[in-house]
Parts: sequence; structure tokens; C-alpha cells
Amino acid sequence: MIKLKGIGVSGGVGIGKVLLLRKDELTVPKRKISHDEISREIYHLEESLIDTRREISNLQKKISKEIGFDHGRIFEAHFLVLEDRVLIEDVIMQIKNKHVNVEYAFSQSVKKYVDTLLKLNDEYLRERVIDIEDVSKRVLRKMLKEKAATLSDLKEKVVIVAHDLSPSQTASLPKENILGFVTNIGGRTSHTAIIARALRIPAVVGVEIATENVKSGDKVIVDGSSGYVICRPTDKTLREYHKKSTAYAKEVKAIHIPRALKARTKDGKEATISANMELPEELSLVKEYGAEGIGLYRTEYIFLGRRDSPSEDEQYAAYLSVAKDISPHSVVFRTIDIGGDKFLSRPEVPKEMSPFLGWRAIRFCLAHPDLFKVQLRAILRASVKKNVKVMFPMISGIEELRQAKALLKECKKELKSERKIFDEDIAVGAMIEVPSAALTADILAKECDFFSIGTNDLIQYSLAVDRGNEKVAYLYEPGHPGVLKLIKGIIDAAHNNNIPVGMCGEMSGDPLFAFLLLGMGLDKFSMSAPQIPKIKELINSINFENAKGIVENTLKLHTPKEVEKYLHSELKRILTSESYRNILMV
Ligand code: PEP
Ligand code: MG
Repeated sequence: MIKLKGIGVSGGVGIGKVLLLRKDELTVPKRKISHDEISREIYHLEESLIDTRREISNLQKKISKEIGFDHGRIFEAHFLVLEDRVLIEDVIMQIKNKHVNVEYAFSQSVKKYVDTLLKLNDEYLRERVIDIEDVSKRVLRKMLKEKAATLSDLKEKVVIVAHDLSPSQTASLPKENILGFVTNIGGRTSHTAIIARALRIPAVVGVEIATENVKSGDKVIVDGSSGYVICRPTDKTLREYHKKSTAYAKEVKAIHIPRALKARTKDGKEATISANMELPEELSLVKEYGAEGIGLYRTEYIFLGRRDSPSEDEQYAAYLSVAKDISPHSVVFRTIDIGGDKFLSRPEVPKEMSPFLGWRAIRFCLAHPDLFKVQLRAILRASVKKNVKVMFPMISGIEELRQAKALLKECKKELKSERKIFDEDIAVGAMIEVPSAALTADILAKECDFFSIGTNDLIQYSLAVDRGNEKVAYLYEPGHPGVLKLIKGIIDAAHNNNIPVGMCGEMSGDPLFAFLLLGMGLDKFSMSAPQIPKIKELINSINFENAKGIVENTLKLHTPKEVEKYLHSELKRILTSESYRNILMV
């Protein structure tokens, strides 16, 4: 038995067999072959190409059936590669002339092919490189008889252990078969952690050496609440954790308060509690937990894990279905926030040295007005019921907000001339998640209809702490006095300019800070759906006057530890001991 410690990012206990995901690398052996072996190697090449063709054809049928014919067509390029005579002849030549094994010959020919295409100044050909690399990996796996870790066909329940999971990998997992996640890297607000929390899957990230300590099939316990991962547990430990798992499930049930309950303090102050969403399958959880609408819809998840961008009609259908489903509540569509730790599979998006400081979110969208306008048109068209708002991520100054609004205006004009209906008064918000925006919030507030504070980023940018890096996770502190002062300034600037202000960063779903934020006057709280009952229970158990009363004292404190200690002591004083234990989970 080995006990590893990481960062618990999604509560609960998962117990099961490990599925270890290797990084997507293939090791291709080089072997000299004799003259007699040449024909066998060439036969192996043909057999692998036929098998791969069959595999892709099945995949194409499955995708066309499940998500539409258009998606199935993306595999056409794969077939072209498999039938490319120049490539195949080159492999055969190498086997015959250089007397090398087929796997090695194939990998060398593909490399030559890719290098040539990359040198050509032709965007279409360069885009084909991804297809070539993808399909050639499939062929090589056939040759090497390796099975690809295709997560979407998981047949049994497993705990996924990986170095890292990309947001698109996480999004495409069959959730019903995942007992838990463990990753070597990551922090509390990395996007994999956010999804795990939204789907209520126990998860521990930042374990550093997780993948080195297990193999597929090992038994493992993931305790997402304490951050422990126990590999190959003894029977005694297993029994202990089975008990813990049952107790956790009971706790979660106990905190299920009526869906329709409003968040209203004992002295009558109301706040809106809505949910954050990434994937369509979260919608039922969002409703089950009593969200009053969707305060953040991370639309980039519709773009991830695919090569082409979704068309206007496809996006429109996706947005409209959410808007209809959540009505009469509203949904805030955050325009795509790619870059950082979420990337499009497009060759023209270069790898950057500091992606979180790079071509991300609104910067990327303003540089790609065509792509951006398609999304804005789709959002506008989905606003017919007048319950849709649009919000721009990573605004760093007024000029970006003005440019984004100008594009929105253009889209409105176009739609009008096409006689398409939409909400002409659609509310436009700015996410405040960059320190410069926080410090100029009074300027921004005059030109938008609402603010939403994105603390996941605001904390990383103001404290200079990468949100996905486990090595500096100890510095990632929402209670840092610098962060609290920025937040207070944003709320005051919004109110001085008569616009509402919400928060959609993870901090708003933490009861300790929700208490302080309510006191600072935050109007709307948006969070992972499973956090909602606790926050509603908290707000219903306190007086607004109490919350207001602690703000000044909190802002005088010097360290995050002092802040947390003070907030705990105040809540302990105000709440009954049972509520305190339930809400704070202590
Ligand atoms: C945030 O930064 O707080 C936020 C909600 O956006 P994301 O987590 O998607 O960056
Ligand atoms: Mg953000």
C-alpha cells in the first residue's frame, strides 16, 4: 500500500481499478531485417492499412449517427492519407532498399511527408499535417499491436490516473464509468478540476508522482476531500474508506435543500445563486441543485476537441436549447475563452511560452473577427426569449470592451437586415479577471450592463501564481488581502455606476468567502452546481447586517491565514454548531 498526497479538488471517495493513461507517445523500434523477411513486412503494412481503414470507417459511421453527417466527414482526410500511393511506395522502398522493419520505415516516411508539407507555404496542406499525424499513429498502433486509450469506449468503471487530462479529454469521458480522477499536475481551478467538481466525480490533482506508482488494473482509493490517493490498499483501509464513502454520500443528501428555495438572509437581503456550466450533460444537475439560471456558460467547450469550428447554426442550436431549457431563468454565454489551458486543435494556433499571458480569450477573438462574429450571431439568435446575456472574458481595458461591442453591433445590424429576430437589448457584461480591469472598473462599468468577477484568473494574475501549477498551489489564496481589496473595489465601482455585479470564479461557491462577499454587496453568485445548496443554506442562516459588519475588520488583516481564521470565528459565532459543521464541512 502507498499513500500519496495531492490537492483534493472534488469531494467524495472513489474506489476502483486504475486505468493509467500514458502520454500519447509511441516508441517505434528500429530493426534490421533479412532479405527473406521483406515480403512479410510489406504484407504487414498492407494488413495494417486495411485494418486502420476499417477502424476509421466504423468510427465515421458511429460519429455520423451520433452527432451528424458533417462530423463524420472529418475522417475523409484520413482515408486520403491511407490511400496515398506516394507515401505507401516510399515505405515499401525503404523496406526493400534499407532492410528496415515496417514500423520504422512507416514512421520515417510519415516524418518526411510531414516535414515537406510544413515547409510549403500552403495553409490547406499544413492543416493536413494533424490528420496525417493522427492517422499514422493509428496505423503504427496496429503495427505495434498497441491499443489506443480511447476513453470514450470505456466498458467498466475505472479511476483515471494520468499525467494530465486536457479539458477536451475530460469533456469526452463517459462520466457514468468514471469513479475518480488522479493527475500528476494541476491546481484547484485548473479546468479539469472544475469539470470534476461540476460532475461530482472525486478528484485529486497535483499528485506529482501518481503515474509512477500505479499500473492499470491496480486497486486505488481517491479521497477528493482530503487529497489522498491510496494505491493497492490493505483490506482494513478499504473497509475504512467504504465507510467514509457512505458517510460522504449521506452528507451530500442531507444538504439537499428544496430547489425553489431563494437565497434570502434572515433580515431580507436577497442574492441570486446560479450555476456555471461547461457541458450539456450538466444541465440536469444544475436544475436538481436549484440554480437560478446559468451565470457562466463556458462556450469554448463546444469548440474543443475538434478540428473545424462549429457553424453558426450548430452553435445557435446549442445555445437556444440551453436558453429554452433554463427559461424563465437566464443564461450568460461567455464568449470563447481559449488559450491558457484550453486549446483549439488548429495548426495556426502556435504554442506559446506563457499561454495564460498570451493569445487568450478576447484577445484571440478580436484577432479572429470572422470566428468571433459567427459566435456572436449565434448567441444573438438564441436570445429570442430575452433570457440570454453575453459576456466577454479577460477584458484588460476599455478598448477591448469597445471593440467587442462594436462587433456585436455589426452582428445585430446584419441580423436585422436578414430579418432574423433577437433581443435588441441583450445585456452585455465584462468579466473582471485581470488586475488592470479591476483597477479601472469604474471606467468599464460605464460601458457595460454587468460585471462578473472571475476570481480563478484574478487570483492567478494578481498573485502571479499559475492556477494549474501544483508547485505554487500553496500561494493561490483567495483570502489574500490584495485579492480582497481588488474585489471590494470592483463591487463598489459597479454599484457607484448602478450596474449589478456577480462572481463566477470558484471563490463564490466557498461558504467562508461567500459570507464576506455578501457583506461586500455582491449581487450574484455563480458556481459549480453541487456548491449551490450550501451557499443557499449559509445565506438563509445569517443576517445581512452580520455580513456587512465583518467587511471592514477583514480588510484590515494582513495575511490569508488571519482572514480565514477571522471568518471562521465569526461564522462559528453566528451559526448554530450543527449549521456551522454542515455548511463549512468541518
Ligand atoms: C474565472 O477566471 O474565475 C472564470 C470563471 O473563468 P475560467 O475559470 O473559465 O477562466
Ligand atoms: Mg477566467
